[in-house]
Amino acid sequence: MSRVINFSAGPAVLPEAVLTRAREELLDWQGSGMSVMEMSHRGKEFIAIAQKAEADLRELLAIPASYKVLFLQGGATAQFAMVPMNVLRGKTTADYINTGEWSKKAIKEAKKFCAVNVAGSSESTQFTTAPKQNELKLNPQSAYVHYTPNETIGGVEFSYVPETGDVPLVADMSSTILSRPIDVARFGVIYAGAQKNIGPAGLTIVIVREDLMGQVSASAPTVFDYKTYADNESMYNTPPTYAWYMAGLVFEWLKQQGGLRRMAEINQRKAAKLYEYIDGSGGFYRNPVEPVSRSWMNVPFTLKNAELDEAFLKGAKKAALVQLKGHRSVGGMRASIYNAMPEAGIDALINYMREFVRTQG
Ligand SMILES: *Cc1c(COP(=O)(O)O)cnc(C)c1O
Repeated sequence: MSRVINFSAGPAVLPEAVLTRAREELLDWQGSGMSVMEMSHRGKEFIAIAQKAEADLRELLAIPASYKVLFLQGGATAQFAMVPMNVLRGKTTADYINTGEWSKKAIKEAKKFCAVNVAGSSESTQFTTAPKQNELKLNPQSAYVHYTPNETIGGVEFSYVPETGDVPLVADMSSTILSRPIDVARFGVIYAGAQKNIGPAGLTIVIVREDLMGQVSASAPTVFDYKTYADNESMYNTPPTYAWYMAGLVFEWLKQQGGLRRMAEINQRKAAKLYEYIDGSGGFYRNPVEPVSRSWMNVPFTLKNAELDEAFLKGAKKAALVQLKGHRSVGGMRASIYNAMPEAGIDALINYMREFVRTQG
């Protein structure tokens, strides 16, 4: 068996140690005689798995007790609707910062529920920057401020957490959660689809400040009310049990690696290496993002001649480097280098890129 080096943006590579552990426990979880997939979510075995996962996530992110952690379905995309349904709390306006494709989708959905004030946008730079704090035009009447700390497609990341005063800050952290420590108390709501930096697809994690719950719009279905999950340990209905278990294994793995401070060091070093090589390639490879806003997780780059793209991808595949094709909306290449991508994977990619310049440049 040989595993490839997988640069997929999501669903993405998982730590090999986690997959091995899941395989060991696949048929018989710790003497229970069954797979986690076959367990009742109301049984004591699964409840223990679920509680351990939440406790480990709380420890990793140092989540204050005044926040609930919800394990949901529907992806980050469902949150584009659940956020306004839950957090508008009778208000009619919300602020959104637009830094690319995912911000735009969140804005489009929010417009079904309220007036959207675009409080900042990097559209004029083709989303190669993030607005600075002093460029934000926040509306103090808004129910919340929504932003995308890391734009997965454009590879643009905020180098700071926006200051929003008393207005709750809502963050779509799908592609950056757990990449470094964060101060959860700065946020009203944090949400993330699991398939990038948490675990398999099918699970969505929402971290929500308690006082923002319980004022859902009257017409909102029960399964779209955060409080439904908060009051029922995320088990009002059947949760995505296996994905929850896998996320728990990833949280354990992160703790074994030394926690998020350690992951931040590694992630920063991995990203810096790749950008440094791109910038030093004499223009053969190019990343368009302003240096201060370059993502640690998603590194898009173009070749000086797009006609070489196909040969680049073909050669990469031969070297077991896969899923490097850029998003259809931007073209070129993209290397997603989440927590589970080892530094050796970056080294292999850079070696290949160098070799490609030698033979094709
Ligand atoms: C992947 C992604 C999404 C969409 O997630 P789904 O789980 O597919 O709904 C939303 N926002 C960001 C920032 C993403 O990276």
